[in-house]
Amino acid sequence: MNDPDTSADTDRNHIWHPYSAMQSDAPVFTVASAHGVRLKLSDGRELIDGMSSWWSVIHGYNHPLMNAALEEQIHKVSHLMFGGLTHSPAIELARQLLAITPSNLSSIFYSDSGSVAVEVALKMALQYWHARGHPQRRKFISLRCGYHGDTFGAMSVSDPETGIHSLFGDALAQNFFVAQPRCRFGEACSDDDIAPLAQALEKHAGQTAAVIMEPVVQGAGGVWFYSAGYLQQARALCDRHDVLLILDEIATGFGRTGKLFACEHATIAPDIMCIGKALTGGYLTLAATLTSQAVSDAIDQGEPGVFMHGPTFMANPLACTAALTSIRLLLESPWQKNIQRIEQGLNNGLAPCRDSGQVQEVRVLGAIGVVEMKQAVDMNSITRAFVEAGVWVRPFGKLVYLMPAFIISDDDLAELTRAVVTVIKGLAQKPL
Ligand SMILES: *Cc1c(COP(=O)(O)O)cnc(C)c1O
Repeated sequence: MNDPDTSADTDRNHIWHPYSAMQSDAPVFTVASAHGVRLKLSDGRELIDGMSSWWSVIHGYNHPLMNAALEEQIHKVSHLMFGGLTHSPAIELARQLLAITPSNLSSIFYSDSGSVAVEVALKMALQYWHARGHPQRRKFISLRCGYHGDTFGAMSVSDPETGIHSLFGDALAQNFFVAQPRCRFGEACSDDDIAPLAQALEKHAGQTAAVIMEPVVQGAGGVWFYSAGYLQQARALCDRHDVLLILDEIATGFGRTGKLFACEHATIAPDIMCIGKALTGGYLTLAATLTSQAVSDAIDQGEPGVFMHGPTFMANPLACTAALTSIRLLLESPWQKNIQRIEQGLNNGLAPCRDSGQVQEVRVLGAIGVVEMKQAVDMNSITRAFVEAGVWVRPFGKLVYLMPAFIISDDDLAELTRAVVTVIKGLAQKPL
């Protein structure tokens, strides 16, 4: 056994965490094991997990059927190059994905993370227009407050106000941004709401390869829920201007918003769709980019006649097995009922936060609950307060948000939301 103090020092002094400094007093907790919605820390404390490890662990940790499927696959083959070789997990997963995603999507590119799935989507759009004889269509239009990942192409279509854009400046491709839709989910989308996108397409369609957005829920850029009507109008505008529509379903996919995919709220289909995060139930890293035959045919027929991408760990058999098993578990479960139940639990449980003078608003959609504060919270102290309250919740900026596993019990959900209410009310006693 490692001395726990030394382990903590090694982590602090030598390992980066997401968006972290090497020398920092930010708390980092060591997890020894995890079951269902419970994280067991190395000091023996147990936390109810409110984050599903960033949207992904939808069936809970250490699921017996997921474990068994992966063990079985380990004894067949764990990894294979995908150049010139294929395997049944990749094929079965493709069948499954094509059966549950919008029916126009017919071709799948497997990759290893959400950001790469976005890079692949952008490349598909560029190759499509190149093949169709419009190589000048090299720009993308995206929404402010969007988030599409941390790699260079993904950064170039993510919100331009956040640090990554200002910092990397000229190193990023210059794309067009339109205002975040302010029409809320459940409301209509007015002409004023869609005007910025309509104008951008009017002006720039001739240079634009695709419009890219997160459907209905903008995730890391603010956990904001916008009108499905906006998506419908965006689809119609893309059709009118002959521009491709890329939907980034990496956070929203696999039931989180109450539909299997968020584009179903608007009954529209994208030309290109990115999925990741919950794809493997949070077991392994896998993402995919799906597109229509019109796009894949054009890419085939253009120069150089192939799609120009090929990661080493493409379609990893273990990851495909995890994804296939996770999707089967989801489809065999009463997931719509679970999401409705969680939506109600979040609505009821978080409602008392509205009494706090420091809370701007509480909003809930599907299994996503958000308490937006008036001011940014101190992440280190609030994280510690949550751990002391027995829950794992990791706010960012002004947002304290929950996205529990779909299998969370009503009691655990109530305990989770009670802790959020207690910690937020506790903030009122102390200055932030
Ligand atoms: C998380 C996320 C990504 C990036 O995925 P990674 O696996 O972190 O690279 C892209 N788009 C959306 C909408 C996301 O939520």
